[in-house]
Amino acid sequence: MQTDAIPLSLKYKIKYPDEFIDAVKRGEILATKCRNCGAVYFPPQRDCYNCGKSEMEWIKVSNEGEIMTYSIVTQKPQGFEEYADYIIGIVKTKDNINLMAWIKGQPKVGARVRLTTDGVRIIGEVLG
Ligand SMILES: [Zn+2]
Repeated sequence: MQTDAIPLSLKYKIKYPDEFIDAVKRGEILATKCRNCGAVYFPPQRDCYNCGKSEMEWIKVSNEGEIMTYSIVTQKPQGFEEYADYIIGIVKTKDNINLMAWIKGQPKVGARVRLTTDGVRIIGEVLG
């Protein structure tokens, strides 16, 4: 397939804890919360940037949220050329966490979404 992109190779590794990966496989989204000061982190962190302690506990992120902004991806990055156009959005959850999700349904800023996963990615399904 002919594309007008320059081949690009990005190599980096994000090591998510197994607890997080296992939750995504179950359709759940986890964050970490500092036992000392209560700061909440998504993506999960081992150390608290707020108080400097490393006393985190896992918390379940609300599966209700609202689309803050979104982009329809028509120019796909390398490796995604064969995908149909897709929508990436920033969703603010009911518990005030901003996360990136693949949006299913008709996107609209302010639309309510139900958060789930497809086992690999976080999905925001537009409600009603
Ligand atoms: Zn803390």
